[in-house]
Amino acid sequence: MASIKYLSTRDSSKRCISSSEAILRGIADDGGLFVPDKFPNLSSSFEKMKELDYKGLASFILGELFSDFTIDEIDYCTQNAYNTFKFDKGIVKISTYEKTSFLELFHGQTLAFKDMALSILPYLMKASIKKHNIKDKILILTATSGDTGKAALEGFAGIDGIDIIVFYPKNGVSNIQERQMLTQKGENVKVVAIRGNFDDAQSAVKYLLSDACINGKLKNKGYMFSSANSINIGRLVPQIVYYFYAYFNLVKNNVIINKENINICVPTGNFGNILAAFYAKKMGLPVNKLICASNKNNVLTDFFNDGIYNKNREFYTTISPSMDILISSNLERLLYHLSGEDPCYVSSLMDSLKNIGKYSINEKIKASLNDFYAGFSTEAETRKEIDRIFKKHSYVIDTHTAVASAVHNKYVAATGDNTHTIIAATASFYKFFRDVYSSISDKYDKNKDDFTLIDEMKKISNVNIPQAISDLKTADILHNTVIDKGDIVDSFINIAKL
Ligand SMILES: *Cc1c(COP(=O)(O)O)cnc(C)c1O
Repeated sequence: MASIKYLSTRDSSKRCISSSEAILRGIADDGGLFVPDKFPNLSSSFEKMKELDYKGLASFILGELFSDFTIDEIDYCTQNAYNTFKFDKGIVKISTYEKTSFLELFHGQTLAFKDMALSILPYLMKASIKKHNIKDKILILTATSGDTGKAALEGFAGIDGIDIIVFYPKNGVSNIQERQMLTQKGENVKVVAIRGNFDDAQSAVKYLLSDACINGKLKNKGYMFSSANSINIGRLVPQIVYYFYAYFNLVKNNVIINKENINICVPTGNFGNILAAFYAKKMGLPVNKLICASNKNNVLTDFFNDGIYNKNREFYTTISPSMDILISSNLERLLYHLSGEDPCYVSSLMDSLKNIGKYSINEKIKASLNDFYAGFSTEAETRKEIDRIFKKHSYVIDTHTAVASAVHNKYVAATGDNTHTIIAATASFYKFFRDVYSSISDKYDKNKDDFTLIDEMKKISNVNIPQAISDLKTADILHNTVIDKGDIVDSFINIAKL
């Protein structure tokens, strides 16, 4: 097995560290993101991989990329993360209709795909702490557009030696998402609402994580920072697993034949989930196109089509709030790989983004964006797609999955390509039931209370109400801090008593 090392997208000296160190640090001191120095090609192992269950496949793929962990350490992590208390049996489900398969990634505890990685990240961190004999406590700082927050809180609650603080946009998440976070129990968790958007939260968190002075003060208090956002490589690698798993599942069920190319279509915000699909492709998964679907915040669509990333535009709050992002952090990793691993070039683009809010890429990188197709779905198109899929297949999708499905339709119309497509289904519709309900039925009455409407949705959809939703009915609200977006750093200093 090749040994894989990690380096920062912005470090011209290309200093390498181990995967466990990269997981602990979250983000590099220079503000860059950690990336693997190479990708193992798994093509020759497909026959073996095909026979593995989800946990087995996760152990295999994590073992390849996190090569400084022993197989026992990795197995311990996957067994505990993907157990039946945390996930429905089968971990993921696949629903196929004609030439598309919805890869349901929302059968974990918080009902969004974030559980796939955030249920294992705490175990990877614990193992890394032990490996490096770290005496400091870890402080996880997380910005959330809704789903990461709850999944991270759930993953890290009650974990010894790790504290977590989550910042979320007060008016930028669904009712259910907010309730899920505000009812989170645990001595080691803190939830803070900000009057601002996700980008405000993420920028402040990135600033805190890489500020030398803050890090020094924290160190004196016996803490070190880490991150649970998809800037942490420990989030991305577990997300590679389900693309392989879905592929083998489709082969086994004769939906596709072995080695047949597929497309993968992902509702995208911070560019983490689709980057994991790109990594899967680099590791030998037969992928034709990666379809990057955006909502009305279509900064990525413009980037892929024109080669210009420009965040200077209006920010919209949409019915797919987990994708309401103007600065997609993980794009930096893609730029690193496509630039021929050129940290100086990446640094210059990121400086430009920081200073003037935009950058444009050179012709060479532009040409290499061919693996991708990008499109966006308006609010009306998203609602129409939820309705269309429901009427056609009696299958209810959430607002994020619907963005992907709508963009996939546009792709097929534009290209005629009818390659079998995996659509990442990223959340349970119960998390966004008001917008989903009102999209498929004129019986929706906005004056009815949440839980009455949820019961009605059960009848319409024929899908059982997940425990995590019914529990919210009686759960106590335990957090109530709301701050201005300009006060995130001060508020943090306060909470951490620096
Ligand atoms: C986070 C999230 C997304 C966006 O995923 P990224 O990895 O940030 O691109 C899409 N849908 C849902 C439901 C999410 O929670």
